[in-house]
Amino acid sequence: PATTLQDIIAHAKEYGFVFPSSEIYDGLQAVYDYGQNGVELKNNLKSVWWKAMTQLHDEVVGIDASIFMHPLTWKASGHVDSFNDPMIDNRDSKKRYRADQLLEAKAEEYANAGDEARSQALLTEMGRLLGAEDLEGVRNLIISEGIKDPISGNMNWTEVRQFNLMFSTQVGSLAEDASTIYLRPETAQGIFVNFLNVQKTGRMRVPFGIAQIGKAFRNEIVARQFTFRMREFEQMEMQYFVRPGTEMAWYNTWKASRMAFHQAIGLPTERLKFHDHEKLAHYANAAVDIEYKFPFGFREMEGIHSRTDFDLKAHQELSKKKQQYFDNDVDPATGKPYGNYIPYVVETSVGADRLFLATLCNAFTKETVGEGDAQKERTYLKLHPALAPIKAAIFPLVRKDGLPEKAEQIMKSLRSEFRVITEERDAIGKRYTRQDLIGTPFCIAVDYQTLEDDTVTIRYRDTTEQIRVPIAELKARIGHEVSM
Ligand code: ATP
Repeated sequence: PATTLQDIIAHAKEYGFVFPSSEIYDGLQAVYDYGQNGVELKNNLKSVWWKAMTQLHDEVVGIDASIFMHPLTWKASGHVDSFNDPMIDNRDSKKRYRADQLLEAKAEEYANAGDEARSQALLTEMGRLLGAEDLEGVRNLIISEGIKDPISGNMNWTEVRQFNLMFSTQVGSLAEDASTIYLRPETAQGIFVNFLNVQKTGRMRVPFGIAQIGKAFRNEIVARQFTFRMREFEQMEMQYFVRPGTEMAWYNTWKASRMAFHQAIGLPTERLKFHDHEKLAHYANAAVDIEYKFPFGFREMEGIHSRTDFDLKAHQELSKKKQQYFDNDVDPATGKPYGNYIPYVVETSVGADRLFLATLCNAFTKETVGEGDAQKERTYLKLHPALAPIKAAIFPLVRKDGLPEKAEQIMKSLRSEFRVITEERDAIGKRYTRQDLIGTPFCIAVDYQTLEDDTVTIRYRDTTEQIRVPIAELKARIGHEVSM
């Protein structure tokens, strides 16, 4: 049977990847904590992204901006006025829904029943109404489509209201001089307001990029689906500043580059696709999502947007500080330098938690092994070795005769290169199983022969194949596989 989201949630909890937040108080909706293995996997994902962005592109540098920003930032970016989701309540069940998601689910129902045309027509109509801010129209559409509350089963809907997704809090100690500030709903603005700082101090020349990994917060109305939609989450964003007119070429370059990244970390081509936006956000002249096929269907994992000069221009207007770049490259059309302009921006934005979830779903493998009566099920995480929380586990066959000491010695010779552990407890088969469940790609067994000839067996997670190799070769063999 196909892997369900419930399988993933259960596995993530049982093996120390993800726990519900403040679980002893029954949790906090749409907030999660990463456990001892989850934090390693997530850190590995962040570091391969960071490397792909900065180390492999000498024109891209990183920053780490604050979560709190001047409140005008969010005025300029449009978040104060329009970072809204349309919501609707059911009077009987007292449940709150996103109006657009109710309609999307209906469209999906039509598509699944083979009526593509009706599905498309519904999405188009919804896009039109939302674009025109016709909230009454949205409500009428929900009713004319006969959409019922899944709990109460009736259509006792309230009006549709816009709901701003930003969390706010107060700075300042006294009520009188306290002012409202927001927890950032995206990391991008921290990059925009630092654009000139980085450009000048780093002597960057267009085209160049600024990358950032950090927390973002959104008061999501419907927060289900585990780490897919959280109220506190992490984004990995890169803003690429280009000369106006060249943005479409860069947009296509980054589209291809980001798709290649997901394939390189092990997500299969057939579970990835591009999805062009039907309706462009106010800041974009082109936008595409990279979708991954989660257990609940193809959903957005990363967004790639051509944001024009919308953000820098808005910051220039509100801050009264010029956000221009002087380009002394010569324009072949005029024979003169391009001169001053506000750069255009191509953005790539991926959620670390969504990438984590995709990686976990993809790695989760259940296989039937053995024949006849000896048949049994084996569960393991087929993670790319570069992403695995633990790269190698070293097992002394028995807890005596110097084998544990030998295992310890091997562990110490490897641990400055990559994360290795030793495990002495339980039968060796059980120890293999435990490592399979957290995705450790290599298990190393230390036996009596090791004491004689300094060789060990390596057992490969995916094939369970075992080979005997000299201890002296371990660093190179494993090191080669766990790098990316
Ligand atoms: P959605 O339509 O699913 O709400 P979005 O289009 O609002 O997502 P963006 O604003 O483009 O998302 O954010 C970029 C990326 O940040 C998304 O592709 C996603 O991976 C991640 N992201 C956005 N919201 C959340 C969230 N609530 N929880 C986890 N990740 C998120």
